[in-house]
Amino acid sequence: MSLSLIAKSIKPSPTLALNEKFAILKEKGDPVIHLGGGEPKTRVPMEAIMATVAHVNTGEVRYAPADGIPALKQAIIRYTEEFYNRKITPQHIIASGGAKQAIMVALQAILNPQEEVIFPSPYWVSYPDMARLVGAIPVPAPPEDGTFYPRLKDIEDRVGSYTKAVIINSPNNPTGAMYSEEFIADIVEYCEKKDLWLLMDDIYHRLIFDGRKLINPYNYTKKKDENSKMIIINGVSKQYAMTGFRIGWAVGNKKVIEAMSNIQGHQTSGPSVLLQKAAVGAINGIQSGVESLRTTLENNRNVMIDLLKSFEGVKVTKPDGTFYCFADFSTYNKSSNALSSLLIEKVQVLTVPGAEFGLEGYLRLSYCGTIKDIQEGIERMKWALDFNSPNELYIGDRKLVRDWS
Ligand code: PMP
Repeated sequence: MSLSLIAKSIKPSPTLALNEKFAILKEKGDPVIHLGGGEPKTRVPMEAIMATVAHVNTGEVRYAPADGIPALKQAIIRYTEEFYNRKITPQHIIASGGAKQAIMVALQAILNPQEEVIFPSPYWVSYPDMARLVGAIPVPAPPEDGTFYPRLKDIEDRVGSYTKAVIINSPNNPTGAMYSEEFIADIVEYCEKKDLWLLMDDIYHRLIFDGRKLINPYNYTKKKDENSKMIIINGVSKQYAMTGFRIGWAVGNKKVIEAMSNIQGHQTSGPSVLLQKAAVGAINGIQSGVESLRTTLENNRNVMIDLLKSFEGVKVTKPDGTFYCFADFSTYNKSSNALSSLLIEKVQVLTVPGAEFGLEGYLRLSYCGTIKDIQEGIERMKWALDFNSPNELYIGDRKLVRDWS
């Protein structure tokens, strides 16, 4: 079939595929545990639900402006003042169908075919394919020192005449690493010096642990609003557990936001007004849900790390935030796909192979589920991988016998 070159270069999203697999196994009644998920299970804020219901009850659900309804923009203005100490106007904002679409239209607005976009590796699964979708070239930058914490040099070494943009995601999916303030300062200053676009994917910025403080990249910019090439990406999916509402946003200079709005206007129009109202409810509502999610995640992280430390062959780096832990399982198998498949097939635990994030031998494990799932999931994994454990395992009343080596 004569599909386009771009279509042929794009892989399905592995994390979305895993969610489908989970739903199918669950439907069959299999005792499957999802440690591959990317969404908190806490309740959506009441204000979000009430705002949606109130609007739907008007019976007038119409097109929304392509770049977001005024009430959502006002909420984002307030959010930006509170968390970034930055005064912006509605023209500096676009609301999109999730942070995903905000990133996508930003890349469409700034990249030409063959231009390069650099991001630290391990990276969020979608960055490489999003770059390919605009015909651009993704350039992953693994830290030279083998850690999850890049230094400016790791980025600098990959900058060439085709480089147009850098994407930074901290705290990071999949590693949970929150990059140092020094690195953020360096990268903001460097991109300004080199006149590169800088996308800060801040979707997890409030979900940080151990008393860490939010880092504000605007503290390091020397450019005035309209000359700044920094674009901040954020959204309601993670912090308010509103993944299904599909509302994210970008804050940038007026010209780039106008270009992004023109693109989005032709692509999808504005996100549904109902969902935008929900986002307004969440952003302007009581924020205690965010803090309680954060503390739950911190506790879940501690439980997961302690359990993983009991494996002889696993190396873990303690996540600083998010709800992911990226652990090195390479002593069991160098192929993360083989490892992940074994765990699904033998003990019905879903994990995401590290190869999808640019690092073989690792698995991404999520701790956004229940403590019970974390404990049981890791216990099953240990049984499947660690041959010092007993030969038999019970899942409910089903007895499993290890018949692989
Ligand atoms: N950026 C990162 C790093 C993410 O992990 C995700 C979601 N997995 C997104 C962006 C997209 O978020 P949204 O649901 O708002 O589209």
